Amino acid sequence: MSLEEIKARIAKAEVEAGRPKGSVKLIAVSKTQPNERVEDVLMAGHRIFGENRVQEAAGKWPMFRERYDGIELHLIGPLQTNKARQAMDLAQAIHSVDRPKLAETLARLAQERGACPDLFIQVNTGEEPQKAGIAPADVDGFVAECRKLDLPIKGLMCIPPVEEEPSMHFALLAKMAARNGLAGLSMGMSSDFEKAISFGATHVRVGSAIFGARDYA
Ligand SMILES: *Cc1c(COP(=O)(O)O)cnc(C)c1O
Repeated sequence: MSLEEIKARIAKAEVEAGRPKGSVKLIAVSKTQPNERVEDVLMAGHRIFGENRVQEAAGKWPMFRERYDGIELHLIGPLQTNKARQAMDLAQAIHSVDRPKLAETLARLAQERGACPDLFIQVNTGEEPQKAGIAPADVDGFVAECRKLDLPIKGLMCIPPVEEEPSMHFALLAKMAARNGLAGLSMGMSSDFEKAISFGATHVRVGSAIFGARDYA
């Protein structure tokens, strides 16, 4: 599927949800994709990308930034505290703030640098033991803790369990964001971004539907 098709589907979903045109940001998730495919999307004029590993992002985005203006990079994968500084140098947004230790590290670095990327708190809506994210019951407390640290929390992020219908998770995330006064909702991937938009997604993270299947070999 092409970038243009995905953008058209997003626009249609915005209209159907009664949402303003352009209210949903498309993050093209380029992890593991060969540089040629990423470059095709850059040449098509897209500038907002997502990566889930700091190391991999550091290996390609400084190079692309030299060649294309206005690139906005979103880090969407788990972040180790010892990579936080590098992540803040690379990314305009981090979607995976998922524990107090990381929040404290980001806050310390933000003070030191005088700047901080936009932040999203990752919520483990399915309460899956193997998955990162704040438990739903702890979200309000963690948002308050992050605000006390002066962190620029823009919204919440979730990755619903693969085997479950995602609607309930999107609705839960939207409800938690609303009661905490957070406008951003990072939810929806290749298979369910239209549904996420109907539940209020402001940021959809779409990889394989734009770039083709990932090759992890
Ligand atoms: C890889 C990834 C995506 C994109 O997944 P697709 O199914 O390829 O669209 C979205 N969000 C996160 C956190 C990811 O790691």
